[in-house]
Amino acid sequence: MGRPKFIASVSFGKDSLATILLAKEHDEPLDEAVYCEVMFDEETSGEVPEHRDFVYRIAIPRLKRAGIPVHIVRGEKTFVGQFQHRISGEGRSAGKMWSWPLCGKCYVQRDLKVKPINEYLRQISEPITQYIGIGIDEPKRLESLRKKKGCVSLLEKYGYTREMAKEKCMEYGLFSPCYELSNRGGCWFCPNAKLEEQREIKKNYPEVWSQFVSLEDQTDDVAYTVFNPFRRSLHEIDAQLEFDKGGNNGTNTQ
Ligand code: SF4
Repeated sequence: MGRPKFIASVSFGKDSLATILLAKEHDEPLDEAVYCEVMFDEETSGEVPEHRDFVYRIAIPRLKRAGIPVHIVRGEKTFVGQFQHRISGEGRSAGKMWSWPLCGKCYVQRDLKVKPINEYLRQISEPITQYIGIGIDEPKRLESLRKKKGCVSLLEKYGYTREMAKEKCMEYGLFSPCYELSNRGGCWFCPNAKLEEQREIKKNYPEVWSQFVSLEDQTDDVAYTVFNPFRRSLHEIDAQLEFDKGGNNGTNTQ
């Protein structure tokens, strides 16, 4: 068995990028970064276009120039594929489609993000320490991280909050423009996505957006009929985006 490997899990959001910057500043061992790109379908990324552009055009080349190789993984499955996956077994939802992801128990996170990264890490024969970007102002997430073998938060080690992580990324010109649309990172098709992210998809990929909205028409054989039961339906969101195109771009109601 070779020497241990140190790998940063990176989404190219502020917390994971600040982790890498801290590793470089403090001479922490870092062999590579691993990035998982979730796909909406075979052709379309789950990243908002501004973030995807930032990842491939700015961030990855900058890390490579700094001597940090970035390994890109993608799951075999896509969001649309998983949406249409039929539930097996005998329960109440047996035979229905998985349909919309539930935040907190998200199959996208489990199957399209964590699984491909773990499969990649399993191929490495050396012992691994994984850097995960969790700030000191996220105590619950830190508590769960501490229970995971081989996972470390450098933001915790160096006393960084998420706001400090943002400042660190800005200092290096590595703050993703996706934060101009929303203060969250993640898939544009997430039930937690904000109106400005959805507006970008409708504008940049109108056909993909229509396909996405039409998933909500499949009401008979899905486990969850509504995109986001706590907010508006996708059709209502689409109606607002259409209305805003007419020059009525007023209040963001999400
Ligand atoms: S951003 Fe939303 S859909 Fe994507 S993995 Fe996270 S919870 Fe799931």
